[in-house]
Amino acid sequence: MEDTSFDIIVIGAGPGGYVAAIRAAQLGFKTACVEKEDLLGGTCLRVGCIPSKALLEASEKYHETKSSLARFGVKVGEVTLDLPAMLQHKDGVVKANTKGIEGLFKKAKITRVLGHARLAEGGKVSVESTGNPPVTLSAKHIIIATGSKVAMLPDVKVDGKAVGTSNDAIAYTEVPKHLVVIGAGAIGLELGSVWCRLGAKVTVLEYLNRILPGMDMEISTQAQLSLAKQGLEFKLGTRVKSARADGNGAIVECDGMDPIRCDKVLVAVGRVPNTENLGLESVGIKTDGRGRIPVDEKYATTAPGIYAIGDVIPGVMLAHKAEEEGIACVEILAGKHGHVNYNAIPNVVYTHPEIASVGKSEEELKNDGIAYKKGSFPFLANGRARALAQTEGKVKVLADAHTDRILGVHIVGARAGDLIAEAVVAMEFGASSEDIARTSHAHPTLAEALKEAALGVDGRSIHI
Ligand code: NAD
Repeated sequence: MEDTSFDIIVIGAGPGGYVAAIRAAQLGFKTACVEKEDLLGGTCLRVGCIPSKALLEASEKYHETKSSLARFGVKVGEVTLDLPAMLQHKDGVVKANTKGIEGLFKKAKITRVLGHARLAEGGKVSVESTGNPPVTLSAKHIIIATGSKVAMLPDVKVDGKAVGTSNDAIAYTEVPKHLVVIGAGAIGLELGSVWCRLGAKVTVLEYLNRILPGMDMEISTQAQLSLAKQGLEFKLGTRVKSARADGNGAIVECDGMDPIRCDKVLVAVGRVPNTENLGLESVGIKTDGRGRIPVDEKYATTAPGIYAIGDVIPGVMLAHKAEEEGIACVEILAGKHGHVNYNAIPNVVYTHPEIASVGKSEEELKNDGIAYKKGSFPFLANGRARALAQTEGKVKVLADAHTDRILGVHIVGARAGDLIAEAVVAMEFGASSEDIARTSHAHPTLAEALKEAALGVDGRSIHI
């Protein structure tokens, strides 16, 4: 490399890192981004959000064509699955997205450096890649955006074949007869749904007595009922002790029940920050008990000139939270007023129906002793939902009992992930439930359910 001196070096090209690099370049910083994988985009684009959404869309189309088109008066012949073509669709989507980032980097004149980055003293980063001599780069500001990796359980022996992670479950070359999913979080439910729709028996083992910890309880319970109706089997309050390959399949042992034999196991018990082998000790950065890098409100670590964003710092591990932090971090470096409103970060699970939330759950409001009013509206009473034959679920709006300010919105239903955006904008603007209730919503749309739920906060929903 000829030029090794930069204003900003971003380590990691996931949604946090690549977005930070693009914004830095827009702001006039001479920017480099170091990434050890050949493809840009991080876990999200390569093996996470994007491929799983491609499979969720494709498997839903298969399932709908096979089982629910008749009710619309659409007759189809025999519907068969072409799994290789479905996987090809997913790979094509990943390729298009990762290539897109390459193009954006070129356009922004960001120097892309391939290799594993390690921090060194004095604003330096050393980069190693196989077959090449190490390169030392330097910069005024270094942003750590190395993301996270799959969390493991001590006695679960991942072999990438019978027992694997989401990286494996987005690429099974055959539909498993019986897939056991460990963990009822977003990953377990999304990938469990994919393979259930394609014909697998899916058993979800969850340690807690509920699915989707952290989400509003009423919404999670309704989502669980919908998913169970589709065929996902839930065993809650079940702690997995061990899992290993056995014969042609796998065996899973849990507390208080007979071992389960199955042909695939998906471990989806959370993610841990990628903060090892980064040279943090050489610059005096200490991680917390969960391997995360502590930062201040400007994303500055304890080491001068070194910042951290996304899954490596405390907070929810979501691509869009990392993006906001990346942008805020470089804007602050440019003397602007970058800011992230952590009360308005949406959380979406892309099952069918989708599950989406923003702000406080009812449980959180009760724990915090905040008086609230609640309005909810079922999709069953929404004309568009009926036309779509997607009447499962509801919208729930929680507003401050005294000021009417919206404190949380929770949705389970078709396209909940898109519908939640309106609630997020409302919360960004400090809206009251009356603001949404008095806003004209196009008819007939699913979004009218949010308006009706907002009207319901004051007991004046029209269609229920
Ligand atoms: P998660 O932390 O959301 O859920 C893991 C679940 O595993 C928890 O419910 C936990 O109680 C359970 N568990 C832990 N140990 C267990 C054991 N021994 N036996 C049985 N159950 C056990 O984790 P995830 O689903 O792996 O997701 C990881 C991260 O990625 C999360 O932060 C998530 O928000 C994010 N993610 C988000 C999306 C999305 O936004 N759609 C999609 C995928 C992942």
